[in-house]
Amino acid sequence: MNILITGAGRGLGMDLVAIALERGHSVIAGVRDLSRGQDALSGLSADYGDKLTVAALDVTDEAGIAALAASLKEEGRTLGSIVNNAAVLNASDTPLEELDIAEMQLALDINLYGPMRVVKHLLPLLTEPDASIINISSEAGSITNAYPGSYPYTISKTALNMFTQKLHVTLKERGVHVLSVHPGWMPTDMGGAKAPTSPRTSAEGIISLIEQRTAPEGHFMFVDYTGKDMEI
Ligand code: NDP
Repeated sequence: MNILITGAGRGLGMDLVAIALERGHSVIAGVRDLSRGQDALSGLSADYGDKLTVAALDVTDEAGIAALAASLKEEGRTLGSIVNNAAVLNASDTPLEELDIAEMQLALDINLYGPMRVVKHLLPLLTEPDASIINISSEAGSITNAYPGSYPYTISKTALNMFTQKLHVTLKERGVHVLSVHPGWMPTDMGGAKAPTSPRTSAEGIISLIEQRTAPEGHFMFVDYTGKDMEI
């Protein structure tokens, strides 16, 4: 299967690339800064050769995403899964009274409009059997268990879950499996050193969700990296 992963140059994204390659998939690794991304992924490029394509993909740059889609199409490439992993966590400790609304705009631009732009332009390439779209979300986006902390991040992830649900309904007939996935609290740049879940373990779970197309038991398409139902 060909798997496209955004935010692939560090953190969970890089582990997703590594696990997908180890499991025999081909990967298009989308990175915001191409030369930094190529450096970060050079070891995997050396090990896996043509199975790994590192591509410039800034999720805020719609023209760039459209150009990437056009060049993949031109090369005759297809996709089996799109993993919207890139995100930003900003204004973590800022109370509403002090919140600059530009911080909301930034989080929505990357965490919500980013996946929307990516799916908008890459959906025509998602033609492989057992196709899927995985939106990496967070328990922080749950309405039921409204989370303390960043207004921009939590609200952007709640909205991302709605995008997942809309896509699920829209693409059901085409057989595209659409999930929001909470990857666990991980010790990446975003999660900080104390987080308990290894990004590699999380990535293994997420690639298994893609391979097995595990459907949640509940009504909502929101699970954790082990496939367990999450409360929306
Ligand atoms: P990191 O902060 O470690 O990495 C974020 C990634 O997103 C980087 O690769 C970064 O690229 C990329 N990115 C940010 N903005 C853009 C952009 N405009 N275009 C393209 N790429 C961009 O985060 P994690 O690896 O920890 O998080 C991965 C996912 O998991 C996110 O969706 C996050 O919300 C989610 N998550 C993480 C948790 C955790 O504990 N870490 C908990 C719950 C959910 P660059 O290097 O260029 O900045």
